[in-house]
Amino acid sequence: MGKSIFKQIIDGEIPCNKVYEDDEILAFRDINPQAPTHILVIPKKEIPSMKDIGDEDIELIGRLLRVAGKIAEQEGISETGYRAVFNCGRDAGMEIPHLHLHLIGGRAMTWPPG
Ligand code: 5GP
Repeated sequence: MGKSIFKQIIDGEIPCNKVYEDDEILAFRDINPQAPTHILVIPKKEIPSMKDIGDEDIELIGRLLRVAGKIAEQEGISETGYRAVFNCGRDAGMEIPHLHLHLIGGRAMTWPPG
C-alpha cells in the first residue's frame, strides 16, 4: 500500500495550509471545510486509526489534544465552542487511514451528527 494523503502532506509532497507544526504534530486546514474553522490535527507518526493507538502513544495523543485546544483558542472558537472529532472506520465515514482530529467550529452545530 502506498503513502496516505496525510503522510504525503507530512513529507511535503502535497502542499497544505499549515496552522501548526512541531516535531510530532502537524495541523492544517481541511481542503473541504464543513464550518468556518475546520482544521485537521494529526500525529506525524503513522497511526492508522484509534484502534492502533499503543501504550507508547499515550503522551503523543495527550499532546495532540492539548495542541488542538490551543489552536481553538488561536482561532477564536474557544468561548463559542467547537467539535473535536476522530472518525474511525467505515460507519464513521473515515476516508484517510491516518489518525486525525477534526477541529470544527465557527457555527452552531446540531446533535446527533449525521
Ligand atoms: P475523514 O473522513 O477520513 O475523517 O476525513 C478526511 C478529511 O480530509 C476530509 O474532511 C477531507 O476533506 C480532508 N482531506 C482530504 N484530502 C485532503 C487534502 O489533500 N488536503 C487537505 N487539507 N485535506 C484533505
